[in-house]
Amino acid sequence: MLNCNDYILVTITKKGEYLEKYVKLLKEKNLKITPQRIKILKYVDTHRTHPTADEIYSSLKKDIPSLSKTTVYNSLDILKKHGLIKALSICGSEHRYDFKNDMHHHFLCKKCGRIYDIEFKCPNIKHIKGEIQSSGHHIDEVHGYFIGTCNDCIKKVEK
Ligand SMILES: [Zn+2]
Ligand SMILES: [Zn+2]
Repeated sequence: MLNCNDYILVTITKKGEYLEKYVKLLKEKNLKITPQRIKILKYVDTHRTHPTADEIYSSLKKDIPSLSKTTVYNSLDILKKHGLIKALSICGSEHRYDFKNDMHHHFLCKKCGRIYDIEFKCPNIKHIKGEIQSSGHHIDEVHGYFIGTCNDCIKKVEK
């Protein structure tokens, strides 16, 4: 695991292009280090807007003209399987991707479709997890979804 100091160090030494962080993450999972995987990880990490696979593809295509959609889909799948990124299915069938560094919840605005990160500690989560695990189930992930109208969209209506 990278700690805060590693992160700062890597950021300072590489300025903007702090790719070592992603190389390290791939290494930790014994995954093959490819420029595509590094770019995808970096994109998801630096665009916390929960992009779709298509958005990731179109943005990276400008940088890597040889990039194929299949590579993006396959890489996202592998990164997801190894827990480096999360796929949110909050919008139904289309997955939205998120960098997995901490646990947070999501708020979906049904008007503009933006997904906001919601950080809060749920005091009951330990208790609920305990209840579920006591019946023999094992929990890998916890997802919290909230759906409504974001403050931006509310402001637009009020104007
Ligand atoms: Zn909105
Ligand atoms: Zn998120």
